[in-house]
Amino acid sequence: MNPRTITLHDCSFSTYIYEEEIIARILMLAEQLDQEYADKKPLFLAVLNGSFMFAADLMKRITIPCEISFIRLASYQDMQSTGKVKEILGLNEDIQGRHVIVLEDIVDTGHTVHGLLQQLGDRGAASVEVATLLMKPECVQHPLDIKYVAKAIPNDFVVGYGLDYNGFGRNLRDIYKIVS
Ligand code: 5GP
Repeated sequence: MNPRTITLHDCSFSTYIYEEEIIARILMLAEQLDQEYADKKPLFLAVLNGSFMFAADLMKRITIPCEISFIRLASYQDMQSTGKVKEILGLNEDIQGRHVIVLEDIVDTGHTVHGLLQQLGDRGAASVEVATLLMKPECVQHPLDIKYVAKAIPNDFVVGYGLDYNGFGRNLRDIYKIVS
């Protein structure tokens, strides 16, 4: 396939991971989760906004009984500079005794997931794991054990398939990486 170049705001991006590969990787993840969570009735917690496409495509391929709920992280605190954990918004389910799988778009430094796990930790879940579409292993700054990673990528800024650049690009079917 010929690479496609697009412009969002002031930056150019070129196709990096095509939709076919994304879906193939999600299918593998779904099969693994189906096996490992059979009879556990997992509760998926999709972190908005970035994970909406990943969550939808993954859920369509999960065949075991499960639930999904959507959460957001409060944006009024600057977590990196204050060191504070962002508050979880929209978690109305009681996760006591539940097997929780957090769905993330991308793990970069790991601050977000680290904070989320800290907050979920004292709510009595039977287990909490993270499934992320993308992960940048070179950038992670926390000792995180992320069990489900659809694809590891180098330290490049990417957009598309739910991921944005200043609000744009979430609708793209493929994932693009920045070129300039
Ligand atoms: P972390 O807390 O792991 O550093 O970053 C997680 C969040 O930063 C992601 O949920 C995502 O919103 C954003 N992010 C990190 N890397 C990228 C990237 O390459 N592209 C986009 N669009 N967002 C990113």
